[in-house]
Amino acid sequence: MNWLTNFVRPKIHSLIHPSKKEIPDNLWHKCRSCEQMIFGKDFVSNLYVCHHCNHHERLTPSDRFSQLFDKNEFTLVPLREVILDPLQFKDTKRYKDRFRDYQEKTKQKDALSVAEGKVKNQGLVVAAFNFSFMGGSMGLYVGQGLVDAARHAIVRRLPLLVIPCSGGARMQEGILSLMQMPRSICAVELLREARLPYWVLLADPTTGGVAASFAMLGDITFAEPKAVVGFAGRRVIEETIREKLPDEFQTAEYLLDHGMIDQIVERKDMREIFGRLLSLVSTTKAS
Ligand SMILES: [Zn+2]
Repeated sequence: MNWLTNFVRPKIHSLIHPSKKEIPDNLWHKCRSCEQMIFGKDFVSNLYVCHHCNHHERLTPSDRFSQLFDKNEFTLVPLREVILDPLQFKDTKRYKDRFRDYQEKTKQKDALSVAEGKVKNQGLVVAAFNFSFMGGSMGLYVGQGLVDAARHAIVRRLPLLVIPCSGGARMQEGILSLMQMPRSICAVELLREARLPYWVLLADPTTGGVAASFAMLGDITFAEPKAVVGFAGRRVIEETIREKLPDEFQTAEYLLDHGMIDQIVERKDMREIFGRLLSLVSTTKAS
């Protein structure tokens, strides 16, 4: 009985010796949706998708890149530096300190990473958000990063896929974070002018200023199953219009039914779909 020997016994043991950490944090994963336990290794090999309820867990950009690109090979695209904390913002904590804590925790510069690699041997540039970094919020760095991603795709003559996973604009950067909305749209326009494809894969959640800018402008818009996508939160809308919203409101499935997105893609089919799409639009292959 694996479950008994691997889980119950160490758990009992740890109760007897509470100071000794018997189970590493990542050995078991508790699904955020159905709350079932999944063995860590199985969860990773299933692309961080729950075996029980098919919940697609949030991914870090490096996991995204590893899952999408051939043989886990990709090159990170350097993004330009921006001014940190231009408003000298402080709430319960200084923004600068909060920001550095997130950098330490995630080992990332900010909430966006861009990489170039091959999918089924065809070049693609991918810009992925990290929800673990301040809710994947879009500030100066992310706005600049999207422009840099578009410029890189243009130089390399490759399509750009953006995977938003974000609560919206970064409030600690005030109006400057809101200015990233039109800026990100300019990035999309650069691709249009260069006649290069721009695709979006909406991950859970895509809300606020991110949903209201580049995320809804894809030539083709994909979404992960059950991803929450919308501008304002459900409760705010219900209170404003004084009506009960349908249960599936603001889910990828609801948006598909209402023509807002083109396709819902399971993570296991991701490489196949983007590989096929690339073969349809590619005229040159990345070197
Ligand atoms: Zn589950």
